[in-house]
Amino acid sequence: MDIVTGNLGWIEAICGPMFSGKSEELMRRLRRAIIARKRVQVFKPLIDQRYSSDEIVSHNDLRMKSQVIQRASEILPLLDPRTEVVGIDEANFFGPDLVEVATQLADGGKQVMIAGLDTDYMGRPFPPMAELLSLAESITKTLAICMRCGNPAKHTQRLVESNDLIVVGAGGMYEARCRRCFEPGVPKQAFLEFTVPKAKS
Ligand code: ADP
Ligand code: ZN
Repeated sequence: MDIVTGNLGWIEAICGPMFSGKSEELMRRLRRAIIARKRVQVFKPLIDQRYSSDEIVSHNDLRMKSQVIQRASEILPLLDPRTEVVGIDEANFFGPDLVEVATQLADGGKQVMIAGLDTDYMGRPFPPMAELLSLAESITKTLAICMRCGNPAKHTQRLVESNDLIVVGAGGMYEARCRRCFEPGVPKQAFLEFTVPKAKS
């Protein structure tokens, strides 16, 4: 509890695969907080420079100004003490330190909204989001549309070959897939076999 203002802090987690509307939902909540005249600070990791260097951006081009940081440990020193709501996008790019930082913020009376991938390209729980889900007061899981069959999709399908946990990219490198269509890792390519017709003797 914040002794001065009596604010009760908490953690709201927004998780799901890529293209499921996590950033959209985060910005919707942050905009509402701004309308409610709350002081808001937004952070995003430096690694994610896909669309803009000082804004969080959704795949349908909603934007909001944010502070760009390399490590979760930079959040506390950059925090204005008057800030009431802290938004963090692309949490999956921050290491396990984010768990401690988010806990400290919430314990200190801040309303913490965190969006990030909950599973990786293999379908495994993705730290630190997986842990944050068990510590959060509220969890929203967003689903995308499967690009194969149109069903609700909870997986992020990697389309390029790499064994690295983090490969930054959007268009063409990843797509949303449902449980049935998901192929952990990289999808097997369907090779076409061409047979050369035999010459007539
Ligand atoms: P996330 O932060 O989860 O990656 P965004 O909030 O950036 O998602 O983008 C969500 C938007 O992406 C949707 O409103 C829609 O316009 C678009 N979109 C593109 N591909 C898909 C898909 N396969 N399923 C759902 N929405 C998609
Ligand atoms: Zn599918």
